[in-house]
Amino acid sequence: MKTRKFLHFILVPFSIIIAVTLIFVAGYASNEFRNTYMEDKKSELKNISQMLSNVISSEGLIDKKELLAKICNNVSKSFNSRITIVGTDGTVLFDTDKNAEIMKNHGLRPEVAAALQGDVGYDIHFSKELNQYMIYCGVPVVLGDRLIGVVRTSMLLETIKNNISQFYSEIILVGLVSLLIAFIATLIITRHIVRPLEDMQRGARLFTDGDFSQRIPPSAIEELGLTANVMNRMASELSSRIETVERERAEKERILSSMSEGVMALDSKDQIMYLNSAMTETFGITPENSLKRFLHEVIRVPEIQRIISTRIRNGVDFVEEQITLHSPSERRMQVHAVPLPGPNGKQGALLVFNDITRLRRLERTRQDFVANVSHELRTPITSILGFVETLLEGAKDDPNKANHFLGIIRNQTNRMVSIIEDLLLLSRLDSGVDMPKENISANSLLSCAVDSCFAAAKKKNIEIRISCREDVDIVGNPHLLEQALINLISNAIRYTDAFGNITASIAISGIETVISITDTGCGIGATDLPRIFERFYRVDKARSRQGGGTGLGLSIVKHIAMVHGGRVDVSSKIGEGSTFRIIIPRQKK
Ligand code: ADP
Repeated sequence: MKTRKFLHFILVPFSIIIAVTLIFVAGYASNEFRNTYMEDKKSELKNISQMLSNVISSEGLIDKKELLAKICNNVSKSFNSRITIVGTDGTVLFDTDKNAEIMKNHGLRPEVAAALQGDVGYDIHFSKELNQYMIYCGVPVVLGDRLIGVVRTSMLLETIKNNISQFYSEIILVGLVSLLIAFIATLIITRHIVRPLEDMQRGARLFTDGDFSQRIPPSAIEELGLTANVMNRMASELSSRIETVERERAEKERILSSMSEGVMALDSKDQIMYLNSAMTETFGITPENSLKRFLHEVIRVPEIQRIISTRIRNGVDFVEEQITLHSPSERRMQVHAVPLPGPNGKQGALLVFNDITRLRRLERTRQDFVANVSHELRTPITSILGFVETLLEGAKDDPNKANHFLGIIRNQTNRMVSIIEDLLLLSRLDSGVDMPKENISANSLLSCAVDSCFAAAKKKNIEIRISCREDVDIVGNPHLLEQALINLISNAIRYTDAFGNITASIAISGIETVISITDTGCGIGATDLPRIFERFYRVDKARSRQGGGTGLGLSIVKHIAMVHGGRVDVSSKIGEGSTFRIIIPRQKK
């Protein structure tokens, strides 16, 4: 639809109305003017004629041609009119403008004819001689009750035309001034109406763009003011509704994105409608390159397509399956899928992906651990059982054999006790029981641990050096830290040949305390190094068992470091030795 400015709708009709009114008024007024003017002229001519008629009859001038001419010429000049004196037979006796002798008989001229009948006659006709319209008035000249002639006066109508033209010019001028005033008035009125409309338009545009902070200013025009109020109310209503919707949407989004499970919603055509952040991380995709796209274009996992196409689309209400993802890394996922009701009864699908890789690994670790514990305990128990059987079968009667076998049984029992003690300690550390902490002198901590291992070291002629500043303190649990140090020093003794060296040191490095045990032992290969802190992991099983190792020592050290908010670290070279470190953050008690 073609639109025009508001000004156009007011100005054009206003101008037409004014113009038509002016034309009408001008026409009517000019007509009135013309009639009045004619009546005036008629009456003026009649008065002049009457006056002359009276003078002629009273003075008997009809035969006194010279005097008649003089009076007529004077009157003619005074009133700017032509005067003709006509005899009763119609012959022209005198004319102020022409020679009467050459003038035709005027008896049949309407104004003369009427005057000859005793009436006052008028006529307007075109004078060929003057090439002008003239108005004529004929008045009888009566002496007593005898008609003696006719006085005819006439005037040019040019004057009327001039006056009417002037009148028209004035009307046009008035019209133009009125139009100008109307134009200015319309502009002012229009501005008054248009400005609030423009304000509303601007406000409505802001509301459409979602900016509800502005309000439409009030208008002095009642209707527009009410409309502005309604629009402002609508804006605040909309704003609060949008805010509510946005808040609810943000809450849902926060909940969904804080979930560790991946959530994906599909529409009835298998186009992705929603993905949470766990989903994008799991599948290495982004909302930008996945939303509104088909599932098979974005996630190329046949098992997922199968769950949707053969189960959910076939009316299954709930699907729970485990699948393996191979990209970007290998993971085991548990998938829950349910139909998602959509508009017009069309069903989409909602899928929830749970990464159970870690759970599975933990499960496997637990199973391995149980198997390891059983295995570690079965060995000494089998050994004890074997020697007990042997003793019962008669060896008990031979004191030498009995002593030897009982010694072995004691050693195996001690081993079981060590394993069980280590397991109990590990379980305490695992359970997260809060261990009381205190300020410990690093020097005395090292001395205590070294003293505990002194006998074993002496047996192998291994020298243990202590390197620690006197004033260094550690905040921690003294029993646990001593246990960790004993484990590391025992290992160092166990895996170092006779006459080797061990250095136990505690030093401060920035915000951390570093406890190091360095030996000149057999060292650990690079392939074993990452696994030695695992429970029951041993590099050299025979040497470990022979030295009384349980396979849990380093695992305990790692947990003790973790209980103190720290970590463990190892560097080693086969044949040269190893350095084990416990690094714990320095803290106030
Ligand atoms: P174990 O009781 O067998 O010593 P640990 O958990 O204490 O168990 O140690 C795990 C394995 O790490 C050991 O079996 C051993 O092979 C290796 N190991 C530990 N400490 C040292 C070391 N200081 N030098 C060489 N190998 C070591």
